[in-house]
Amino acid sequence: MTAEILSVGTELLLGNIVNTNACYLSEKLASLGIGVYVQTTVGDNADRLREAIRLALSRADLVVMTGGLGPTPDDLSKEIAAECFGMELEEDPAVREQIAAYFQRRGTAPDQVPDNNWKQALVPRGAKILANPNGTAPGFLLEKGNKAILLLPGPPAECKPMFENEAIPWLKQKQPGVFYSVMVRMVGIGESAAAARIRDLIENSVNPTVAPYAKPGEVHIRVTAAAADEAEAKSLTEPVVNRLYEEFGSHIYTTDESETLEQNIIGMLRERGMTVATAESCTGGKIAARITDVPGASDVFREGYITYANDVKSRLLGVREESIRRCGVVSEQVAREMAEGVRRASGAEAGIGVTGIAGPGGGSEQKPVGLVYIGCSVGTRTVAKRFCFSGNRALVRTNAAQQALVLLRQMLLEETENM
Ligand code: ATP
Ligand code: MG
Repeated sequence: MTAEILSVGTELLLGNIVNTNACYLSEKLASLGIGVYVQTTVGDNADRLREAIRLALSRADLVVMTGGLGPTPDDLSKEIAAECFGMELEEDPAVREQIAAYFQRRGTAPDQVPDNNWKQALVPRGAKILANPNGTAPGFLLEKGNKAILLLPGPPAECKPMFENEAIPWLKQKQPGVFYSVMVRMVGIGESAAAARIRDLIENSVNPTVAPYAKPGEVHIRVTAAAADEAEAKSLTEPVVNRLYEEFGSHIYTTDESETLEQNIIGMLRERGMTVATAESCTGGKIAARITDVPGASDVFREGYITYANDVKSRLLGVREESIRRCGVVSEQVAREMAEGVRRASGAEAGIGVTGIAGPGGGSEQKPVGLVYIGCSVGTRTVAKRFCFSGNRALVRTNAAQQALVLLRQMLLEETENM
């Protein structure tokens, strides 16, 4: 099966909003083994929308549309999609009832409901109505011959759950066989180095397919197999995943689709009964933010300092003034003292200290913008590493936070090996 994504909304064309729905839908469709060859974005304009739907239908089996399902006159997706399939719109009493109930809950009597809203009770005849527990506009699935149009609401908080709960079960039933995919996530190795080591797999694998993706400070490799049933598809992926483990060993931190690096690290700390504390300068709390984004982080995270000024590094973390004077505040020595100091100050078993120059100003020939020292102290060891990140301020900060987490993970692994 092939699909196209058709995003609807003038806001998208004006660059007012980012098309995160298309990104989400493409990724989901790919993981289901459905080929997406074209994405289109079109404004709230009847003629251009009609043309875009017809063209998409001429190429793909399924057109997935998002946006333009709301109550206002510029919301046209349902009307034009129905027209392309020659379907009449008719009022659906159940949907009308849901709209009345939605407004009733907000204290609006049915005769007070704005006329526009009743438009949402109009349904293309023969379409399947997709429930929208997160908003008022239902979605629709229109089928004609071997073509289909899926209409999803624009707001991501409505679009994603509807796709997940209503569209995926239908797609799975349509697609002969199943797809099973494993996402192997790695740190501490670059994309080109990783790809070079498994070039044979990437180039020659047909079922499963093997595809690498570069993320900031991580490499993800998706292994996707097609088979008659899930057990068979899974067994096809296994030898490839094993080969990846042989090749990359502990660079791999998870094969769990939903696990992030910070979740993984929290799990490691919890297993070891350890806590962590952070002392951040140029990352300004990003490391602490990533750790505390994870529910349950309080089990392992003690405290985080943002020590920007030199004297604060000394006062709160005990960084020696002499070290700052002798080595400079952006130095291996200071990163090391920050990591050790934050452990002392907090009583945590692991400490991270980061000091660097995020730019755009503040660089020099010896200490250029992007220079970051990351210190990590675990057990009886403290390690400090020098990094030279490229890119703008935001990228330097993101990369520094990522590499600090990578270093912490590395130290935790080594700590266990040495025990
Ligand atoms: P509503 O009932 O809210 O009008 P709708 O289905 O008509 O929903 P739109 O009016 O096209 O959808 O968009 C509503 C909001 O949803 C936009 O203002 C935007 O914030 C968000 N949105 C729409 N399309 C996208 C998209 N492709 N990616 C991310 N967000 C989107
Ligand atoms: Mg709208």
